[in-house]
Amino acid sequence: PARLVLVLGDHLAPDHPALRDADPAETVVCMAEVRHEADLFPNHRQRLAYFFSAMRHFAAARREGGWTVDYQELTEASGADSLPAFLRAKIREHAPEAVVMVEAGRLSLEAEIREVCEAEGVPLDLRENDHFACSRAEFAEWLDGRKRVLMYDFYRSLRTRHGILLDEAGGPEGGSWSLDAENQQSFGKKGPGLLPDAKRPAASGLSQDVVAMVNEQFPDGWGETESFAWPVTPEAAEAAFETFVTERLPEFGTFQDAMWTQQPWLYHALISPAMNVGLIEPLAMARRVEAAYRAGKVPINAAEGFIRQILGWREFMRGVYTAFHDRLHTDNVLEAHEPLPEFYWTGETHMACVRDVVTQLQEHAYAHHIQRLMVTGLFAQLLGVEPLAVHAWYMAYYVDSVEWVTLPNVIGMSQFATGSLFTTKPYVASGAYVDRMSNYCSGCRYNPKEASGEKACPFTTLYWDFLSRHRALLEGNNRMAFQLRNLDRKTPEALEAIGERADGVRAMAREGTL
Ligand code: FAD
Ligand code: SF4
Repeated sequence: PARLVLVLGDHLAPDHPALRDADPAETVVCMAEVRHEADLFPNHRQRLAYFFSAMRHFAAARREGGWTVDYQELTEASGADSLPAFLRAKIREHAPEAVVMVEAGRLSLEAEIREVCEAEGVPLDLRENDHFACSRAEFAEWLDGRKRVLMYDFYRSLRTRHGILLDEAGGPEGGSWSLDAENQQSFGKKGPGLLPDAKRPAASGLSQDVVAMVNEQFPDGWGETESFAWPVTPEAAEAAFETFVTERLPEFGTFQDAMWTQQPWLYHALISPAMNVGLIEPLAMARRVEAAYRAGKVPINAAEGFIRQILGWREFMRGVYTAFHDRLHTDNVLEAHEPLPEFYWTGETHMACVRDVVTQLQEHAYAHHIQRLMVTGLFAQLLGVEPLAVHAWYMAYYVDSVEWVTLPNVIGMSQFATGSLFTTKPYVASGAYVDRMSNYCSGCRYNPKEASGEKACPFTTLYWDFLSRHRALLEGNNRMAFQLRNLDRKTPEALEAIGERADGVRAMAREGTL
């Protein structure tokens, strides 16, 4: 054939850029489930099943559309065990005039694929992944010469460029670019009350086969698969998103930061896995949300809040990953070297918040943003865990993990390992924050208000200890001034007791008794 199209598991768009201008008679579509990708991290089985199922659905739909698809299943005895090895074998088998693929979600994989093509003497035609509202080149242009690299500035420029949620004068609809302050309500003491049914899509026969295969192939893998109910086709992703817009988005704005025991879905979209494999397109989603706002169906704090997540944070993280890829793999400005506690894998801890989130992850491979940032991320940061160990855990345990999005979120945003490269300050808080935003503390043996002694909440102890330990680094940062002033109000005796308890907490985390 003239063209070998290599389709990776993270780009399964129905209008795949490498197929748009291709002739089915002159093209072979190559796809592979490989051990190497599955073994990069100790994967949650639901994550593996998600990628493989979405890939098999994509392959089946293309075959139906008349394309030739050469698909390697994981269990093929003679199959290649890595993507570069697979591509090499397929180039030799099909002898194409060119290899065409879309930008990969992991830059190191893209480099390896380039090397294979060079070594085999076949040109590589790398197509832009136009499922992003901002291309790699556009982000580089935005970044050029910029003194501060902040999501807010980027988001503003992207909304203006695409004309999203603007008023007649070209300013922000509602008078403000970000309504973040209106996105932070908790459920109070009464709890969330009756929540809308998340209406998760039932697993298709093909998905059930994949789940069975994954359970068989990864008997010692992490996580359960019984609750597998993710959209794996573009149609299912559209339907899931529509349900979200009509039933959950109106309250999403107000409660997006709130948490509640054994309530994994709340008002969240549950759409990141489908977005990350290209089943649904962010700009179209933003326009759909804007239309719901203009039709009076959702309030502005919900519309803007959601659009900020997908056109602001998500696109910004992709740009940051591309621009600062190397630093994200090496920076560790807080010099954090503690090992990741075993309870991140098992959930066996007395800390009710961490236990609830890890148990939820084991069951669903999903936790929402504040659980990621302000429970598991925050605790790892306060404890001083090695950033790449934290990253490996996030890659492993979440159905939606892909390097370009997980790495900057974990290393930069949640662990502050890149310092002020693209965030203004570390996201640090004491147990009081978790207490305010959830009901976790009422079922916990620790007390969020206590910083020392046996009952002290480990978050609260480590929060003050963190501020003391990193005082020199944080001192010049205006946004930390309030927190540091509070630290200064502590007596030397109180600080000593906190230091002692912090040593105890670190020892208990290592021993597995925390
Ligand atoms: P909602 O809460 O309904 O939010 C809507 C959408 O906004 C999400 O689907 C997502 O596409 C986007 N979004 C919101 N915040 C971010 C963000 N910071 N970065 C990128 N997209 C964002 N997201 C992933 O897709 N994969 C990851 O591996 C991942 N790892 C994370 C690790 C940490 C430490 C943190 C703090 C965040 C991480 N996120 C990740 C971002 C965010 O938490 C998830 O996208 C979100 O929770 C997905 O659930 P949802 O679809 O129900 O989202
Ligand atoms: Fe988590 Fe501390 Fe609250 Fe316990 S007291 S649930 S450890 S924040």
